Amino acid sequence: MSEQQWDYSIFWKEAANQIKEQLSEQEWVMWFDNISYNSSNESSVILNVPSSFYRDQVKQRYQKLIQSKLLELSGHNLGIDFNIIKLENKEIKPADADPSDSGIIESKRDNDRSPFEIQRPSPIKSNVIRSSGLNEVYNFDRYVIGENNSFAANAAYAISRNPGTAYNPCLIYGGVGLGKTHLLQAIGNSASTANSDLKVSYVTAETFTNEFIKAIGDKKAHIFKNKYRNVDILLIDDIHFIQGKDATQEELFHTFNALYDANKQMVFTCDRPVSELKKLTDRLRNRFERGLNVDLQPPNFETRFAILKKKIEQKKVPLSDEIISFVCKNITTNVRDLEAALMRLIAYAELVNKEITMEIAQQQLKDTFSTQKQGNISIELIQRVVSDYFNMSQSDLKGKRRNKAIVLPRQVAMYIVRDLTEFSTTEIGLEFGGRDHTTVMHACQRIEIHMNTNPTLEPTIRNLIRTIQEQSRM
Ligand code: ADP
Ligand code: MG
Repeated sequence: MSEQQWDYSIFWKEAANQIKEQLSEQEWVMWFDNISYNSSNESSVILNVPSSFYRDQVKQRYQKLIQSKLLELSGHNLGIDFNIIKLENKEIKPADADPSDSGIIESKRDNDRSPFEIQRPSPIKSNVIRSSGLNEVYNFDRYVIGENNSFAANAAYAISRNPGTAYNPCLIYGGVGLGKTHLLQAIGNSASTANSDLKVSYVTAETFTNEFIKAIGDKKAHIFKNKYRNVDILLIDDIHFIQGKDATQEELFHTFNALYDANKQMVFTCDRPVSELKKLTDRLRNRFERGLNVDLQPPNFETRFAILKKKIEQKKVPLSDEIISFVCKNITTNVRDLEAALMRLIAYAELVNKEITMEIAQQQLKDTFSTQKQGNISIELIQRVVSDYFNMSQSDLKGKRRNKAIVLPRQVAMYIVRDLTEFSTTEIGLEFGGRDHTTVMHACQRIEIHMNTNPTLEPTIRNLIRTIQEQSRM
C-alpha cells in the first residue's frame, strides 16, 4: 500500500479549528499560526513546524489536546509527528534559528517524555570531577514552564543539548526570585549529565571577583586564568555584581574572548537588561549583547499554581487545590516568595502535627499577604530606588535640570509613584520639586508611550517596582 493512501488533513484542519476556539487569539497566533499540515501515514499526522523549539513547545503544551481532537474526529488513535521546515518570509523569534534543525522527520511519537526531562546519565568514564559549583536539585525536570519563562527555558534547554553552538553567549535577565539561578544551574546539570566529559563551571559573579582578587594577591593569576579559560561551559550568575569593578571586568573580558574564540559556551544572568548596567565597560556590554538576551517575567496565576503543585509533589505534603489556589492568588511577586509561603505552611503543620486547613493557611499567611499588598511605600523610597538605579542623585531627580539623562528617570519615578501609591498628581508634583500636576500627568503618559516603543523599558520598570516593594518590606 502506498503512503499516499493516508490523508488525515481534514481531521487536522477541523481539530485546528476547534482548538482555535479554545485558545486566546494571542496563544493561537503564537503557536498555531506557524504550524502547517505536511502529510499523513497510517497512524499519524505529520505537521510542519519552524524549529525544534516549536516542536518541543507544541508537544509539551498541545500534543495531548491535538491527539484527543484527532481521536474524536477520526475515531482513530492518531499520533502526531513533526517535520521541521524553516519558514520563509516569516518573522520568527530568534529562538527559532536553531542550526541543529535538520528538516528530517522525527518519529518520537510514542515517546511521551517531556523535552525537559533529564536524559539518563551516560556511563561515567572517569573519576575526574569535571563540574564545579553545580547543585543537582536545580534541574529542568523541576522547572515549571509558563508563558513568563518559556522562551528563556527553551533557550536554556537548547544550550544544554548543544553547548557552544547556537546561542553563545546567552544572557538571562530578570528580577529577584524569578528562576535565573535555577535555569543557569539546570543548563550545567543537564549538559554534564548528557556528557560527563564536559567541563562545566558555575560561579557567581561575586565569587568570580573574590577569587580573582585573591589570585592577584597570592600572585597566582595564571592559575585563575587557567581555571576559567579551560572550561567547556562557563556559567556566571548575577553579573550585575561586577559593575564598577574594573579589574574584574578586564579579566572577564579576556576570559570571554578566550572562550568565545574556542566556541565554548557562556551563559550569564543579570538582574536587568545589560543596556541598563551603568558601570560596565562598553566592550564588555557589547560582548554580553552579542548573543541571545532573554528575560524572565513574573509567573501568572496558572504558572504559580503549577509551580506549587510541583513543589508539593516533591515534598509529598497533602495540600488541597483550594489552599494552593489561595496562596497563589495572594502571592504574585515571584517564585521565591511563593516557596517561602509554602515552607511556612509546611513548617507549621509539622510543628503542630496537624493537617493544613484553610483556616490554618489564612492564619499563618496573614502577615505574608499583607506585606505583599504593601501599604507603606513612600515617594521618598521610590525616588531613592530610581535614582540609585539610574546612578544619579536624588536632588537631580527632584531638581530643575531638564537634560535627557535626567528627564527619563524623573518621569519613570513619577510613573511608579502613580502606579504604586494613592498620592494625587498634585501631591506627587510637590514632592518632585514643586511641579505642577499636569507635568506629572504628562510624565505618566510619556512613559506609557515609551513602554510601547522601547522593549527594555517595561522590564526595567517592573524590576524597579519589585525592588521598591521588597525594600518597603524590610
Ligand atoms: P533568581 O536567581 O532569579 O533570584 P532562583 O533561581 O533562585 O531565582 O529561584 C528562586 C526559587 O524559585 C528557587 O528555589 C527556584 O527553584 C524556584 N523557581 C523559580 N522559578 C521556578 C520555576 N519556573 N519552576 C519551579 N521552581 C522555580
Ligand atoms: Mg539567583
